[in-house]
Amino acid sequence: MQVFDNYIAGERVAPADGKRFASINPTTGKVWGEFAESSRADVDRAVHAAQAAFAGPWGKLSPTRRGRLLMAWGDRIAENAEAIAAMETQQNGKLIAEMRAQARVVKDFLYYFGGLADKVEGRVIPLDRQSVLNYTLREPLGVVGVIVPWNSPTFLTIMNVSPALAAGNTIVIKPSEVTSASAFELARLAEEAGVPPGVINVVTGARAAGEALVEHEGVAKISFTGSEAGGKAIAAKAGARLAGCTLELGGKSPNIVFGDANLDQAEAGVLAGIFAAAGQTCVAGSRALVHESVYDEMQRRLVARANRIQLGDPLLAQTQMGPVATQAQLAKDEQMVQRALSEGAELLCGGERAKLAGFEDGLFYKPTILHRAPADSHIMREEVFGPVLALTPFRDEEEAIRIANSTRFGLAAGVWTRDVKRAHTLARRLQAGTVWINTYRALTFNSPFGGYKMSGLGRANGMEAIDQYLQTKSVWCELGDEVQDPFVLRT
Ligand code: NAD
Repeated sequence: MQVFDNYIAGERVAPADGKRFASINPTTGKVWGEFAESSRADVDRAVHAAQAAFAGPWGKLSPTRRGRLLMAWGDRIAENAEAIAAMETQQNGKLIAEMRAQARVVKDFLYYFGGLADKVEGRVIPLDRQSVLNYTLREPLGVVGVIVPWNSPTFLTIMNVSPALAAGNTIVIKPSEVTSASAFELARLAEEAGVPPGVINVVTGARAAGEALVEHEGVAKISFTGSEAGGKAIAAKAGARLAGCTLELGGKSPNIVFGDANLDQAEAGVLAGIFAAAGQTCVAGSRALVHESVYDEMQRRLVARANRIQLGDPLLAQTQMGPVATQAQLAKDEQMVQRALSEGAELLCGGERAKLAGFEDGLFYKPTILHRAPADSHIMREEVFGPVLALTPFRDEEEAIRIANSTRFGLAAGVWTRDVKRAHTLARRLQAGTVWINTYRALTFNSPFGGYKMSGLGRANGMEAIDQYLQTKSVWCELGDEVQDPFVLRT
């Protein structure tokens, strides 16, 4: 059994009240490690460490040097990608191949934002009064609290931490209670790369630890990735003390397949959207809207492929779908499918747990496709976060857009067509932060990512991301000797 303490100011620190919680491997169902169940006292200690690093070593570093340290951190993570991936698969049951790819690619985020660190520039504003110099400074906020979910822990941590650090802030990370281990490895590697103690701190725990971070007066901004309910609760709390928040939340993203699409590509894209990662991605294409002219064919193709998906040990190369991450997620998958059936949907495949030899306690759920669910039914509106696809026919472009936009979410959408005019018309009319045309689930460090509507607030990645972690100061300087009338506003 491995025991993990918090990581504060470069030290391993046991929880103040000694409380810990267990972590379960979803493939075997067995407990393998214990983490600190952090209290307010632990969170307070971490925030103070981050404040001291902000006022001290991190704040005093030149932006270029700060950027170089982030790049060096990226190198260290890439060198240790295998070990990080193994930790993540042990905790969330996702395919080792996916976790490995994520652990390798995060260095590109640190290179990009490390490179941006010394490109944060103010402006000189041309005023009417030429004797006045007015310019802007773009300054970091202070301590940023980063709260992440369990589905892609390293990827989502680095995606959000890198712009915040590049902007000059310091960090307290509260990883998911399901996947807390890799954050410690990331922090250790940052230390090895030369990032000063206190710049990155890690406190573990469940929701209460996250709440303590959100409510802490010393935290200037919260970067939250997780559920809609969590995001709303955090926005309300942060709003109460006028702290900012960036929210990356859930979705009910549609894949829209037109009759003129390359159906081989569309089939692969719809499958990737919902069964890759067992549907446990925020951008899961959990609704497939298919034109009536190709509906029967797409249905046949998707069901045949879904039935052939190789479920198994996520550590094996031939496995295509591992377990779902938690008992709660498995129960949710089951309940939502049952409810869909009771509300009129028909089951085309899956719809039950899978029992695998050698993994009797594993949390496996079969790839599931439902169709003809009523437009207003629960399965058409709510996120499952599991391997459950709702298939629906549409008659024309207008109907496709109407159905696609008919949820309160707006994270992503896929459009499959050879008609370039239609593709770009839809790109404008779909209410989603990302629109993929003839591709799906593509994401990179330099392209902005985030949600419309209830899928989020603010943007990760790209130039937009660093702006989330800066504030602008306007500096006015009178250069002339003229004495001003004290009772007249100067413009
Ligand atoms: P969750 O909201 O239950 O938990 C996420 C994290 O927030 C955890 O660390 C949790 O301890 C903490 N937390 C939860 N409620 C909180 C609160 N009120 N105050 C402070 N902290 C709180 O989400 P989850 O089940 O871990 O993750 C799945 C969800 O994350 C899905 O809805 C998925 O769509 C979303 N997600 C979004 C993105 C994105 O970039 N848009 C990426 C991945 C996952």
